[in-house]
Amino acid sequence: MSTVVIVGAGQAGSELAVALRQTGFGDRIVLVGAERHLPYQRPPLSKAFLRGKVEHEALRTRTLDAYTNAGIEIELDTAAVGIDRRTRSVTLADGRTLRYDKLALTTGGSPRPLRFGPDHIAGRTLHHLDDAIALRQELHSGGTLLIVGGGFIGLETAAAATDMGIAVTLVEAQPRVLARTCPPAVSAFAEREHRNHGVDLRTGVSVRSIARRDGALLAELSDDTLVRADLILTGVGIAPNDTLATTAGLAVDNGVLVDAAARTEDPDIVAAGDCTRQWHGFLGRSVRLESVQNATDQARIAARTLCGKPTERSTAPWFWSDQYDHKLQMAGLPQAGDTAVVRGDPSSHSFTVVYLRDGVITGLHAVNRPRDFTAGRQLVTARAVMTGDEAASEDLPLSELMKRHQSTVERRA
Ligand SMILES: Cc1cc2nc3c(=O)[nH]c(=O)nc-3n(C[C@H](O)[C@H](O)[C@H](O)COP(=O)(O)OP(=O)(O)OC[C@H]3O[C@@H](n4cnc5c(N)ncnc54)[C@H](O)[C@@H]3O)c2cc1C
Repeated sequence: MSTVVIVGAGQAGSELAVALRQTGFGDRIVLVGAERHLPYQRPPLSKAFLRGKVEHEALRTRTLDAYTNAGIEIELDTAAVGIDRRTRSVTLADGRTLRYDKLALTTGGSPRPLRFGPDHIAGRTLHHLDDAIALRQELHSGGTLLIVGGGFIGLETAAAATDMGIAVTLVEAQPRVLARTCPPAVSAFAEREHRNHGVDLRTGVSVRSIARRDGALLAELSDDTLVRADLILTGVGIAPNDTLATTAGLAVDNGVLVDAAARTEDPDIVAAGDCTRQWHGFLGRSVRLESVQNATDQARIAARTLCGKPTERSTAPWFWSDQYDHKLQMAGLPQAGDTAVVRGDPSSHSFTVVYLRDGVITGLHAVNRPRDFTAGRQLVTARAVMTGDEAASEDLPLSELMKRHQSTVERRA
């Protein structure tokens, strides 16, 4: 009997285990997770869970019965601390050793740590369920919150905390929020909405130091102002958990390096999810992606590879964020130099930014426009051709452009 060991019981690890069974793997599967919880979805941690709208049992990707019925062994609260590729074994923190025939690394990422001032005070981070349980409890008892970082997690937490009646200050060192991932029109929309909801949002400002004063925390900002807060949360991105791979001698470069079929350089080891830097079959370049869709799709690809049926990605990446009642959905991965075309009025609550390169759609950001997103995602995956005027025209639904694209393809076939 052969054994597949999966290290990392999160979104990708859970999906990979089940996909192995669905792809016909009939032997032993062991899923090893450092956390004490069954694999769960992280997106609600900064949204519905923080607000108290959903309990943690509802976040599980699968029930314990589902793993048991599929014959998947789960070792929770157990970190893997070493990989010996020569003996094909994984050492666990409790001293046990697991032998593998094939190994999958799905270890995710960890929040980048920030420490401030002479006392090296660290802000809290929101990445694990236990972080969210603790933060939710504290927010329910009121107080003031300083958030460092205007990325998705910082902004989603600001929205949840504001809805709970907490006074929130958010500082972002860049001149605008979401600068790494979104166009200026979307950043401006987010900034406006957060300010309208009462968030004291300051861009182009960073935290110089933090000290404890009279039972609270006092942050000194780079513009010489002071912010007093009961709680500080930092959300400045994650780093891939690739140390196990590095010490095992695998190639790592800001993520475990894998090809389009999730293979590392070792034929017995695959990797998937936030811990990887992958050659992306659809994008045709090397990227590091942090999203549920990437983790699940890449995990399924890894499972097929382990079953000797390798495939590559043929669809565009996508992502979403919920803040207040607003839904932001993104497809594709636009690059510097792509032309951004706006559909609709960016000063309203509903508009879309479409990206074009050489007349081909490369991505879109849809603000409260699920129809644009659904059709736009198909257009991006189809690499459809369109003019800037067509992309901007409110009279021309993106679904219509998709129909036109399909009939052009059929005529050519
Ligand atoms: C608060 C929050 C909100 C998010 N919102 C969205 C969203 O709206 N949309 C979206 O698409 N994505 C969102 N994401 C990102 C998404 O959740 C991740 O991209 C996804 O979970 C990645 O899956 P993964 O399996 O690679 O990693 P993870 O789900 O992080 O799982 C990795 C697991 O491996 C474990 N592990 C690490 N090292 C070891 C070891 N040595 N031994 C054993 N176990 C180990 C970790 O403890 C963890 O449980 C959000 C993330 C967070 C934190």
